[in-house]
Amino acid sequence: MEWNVVYYEEIDSTNTQAKRMAKEGAEQGLVVTADEQSAGKGRRGRVWESPAGTNLYFSILLRPELEPDKAPMLTLVMAYSVAVVLRTQEGLPVEIKWPNDLVLEKKKICGILTEMELSGSQIADVVIGVGINVNTTEFPEELRDKATSLYLQKGEQVEREKLLQQILEKFRRQYERFLEIQDLSFLQNEYNQMLINKDREVLVLEPGHEYQAQALGINEKGELLVKKSDGSTEAVFAGEVSVRGIYGYI
Ligand code: ATP
Repeated sequence: MEWNVVYYEEIDSTNTQAKRMAKEGAEQGLVVTADEQSAGKGRRGRVWESPAGTNLYFSILLRPELEPDKAPMLTLVMAYSVAVVLRTQEGLPVEIKWPNDLVLEKKKICGILTEMELSGSQIADVVIGVGINVNTTEFPEELRDKATSLYLQKGEQVEREKLLQQILEKFRRQYERFLEIQDLSFLQNEYNQMLINKDREVLVLEPGHEYQAQALGINEKGELLVKKSDGSTEAVFAGEVSVRGIYGYI
């Protein structure tokens, strides 16, 4: 797969733009990146703060031969890829908050948003959006205690373009392995070592159903295994679920 990077000074949302281009027939490997997003998106209509001149926002378009219910695993493949790059290239002990966030010192440094389009019962396309706080020096009031940036952690600026290339390269190799194997067994152990939820008490927020449990780690399908108070183990599917710490975000 070849990457084809398209750059915008400003766009509403790189995910939205990638989805528009997908509809017009863009090929797998399209990467939409922008200096600024005027309507950056989180999950379930939430906003991703995306000022100009500082951070990395990009979305990749994939057209995988994959059953639709396996698509959420791609979020984990991306989280894993970004985490490994930030650890090896930037030397930062980034951890993964299952399924779609990366954290450093309990604060969010990266968010991932995966959106899938179906054609009948098959995947037409999957768009994976990534927002990384790179050189932000100051966050708006409401994010100050829950967000951080590479700059704030390292004390030096990081080049966005280089970081993007490193992530795309890392992701491509993992994506190809994933498509061969069709599950996450090849990265499960390494992923679990970076999983901040591991062994912690978490609140599982399923639509209409909320419970407390101990997070054990992901299985080969990317589901979060949790141990409930009655001793039973449940596999939580990444699709529509959020996990929180019992006292806060982690
Ligand atoms: P979930 O666990 O369900 O994913 P979340 O709070 O992490 O919950 P997301 O949709 O992943 O939700 O991310 C959106 C949220 O992230 C926003 O509601 C806001 O709290 C926070 N946020 C927005 N912009 C940024 C940013 N640039 N850096 C860090 N955090 C941000």
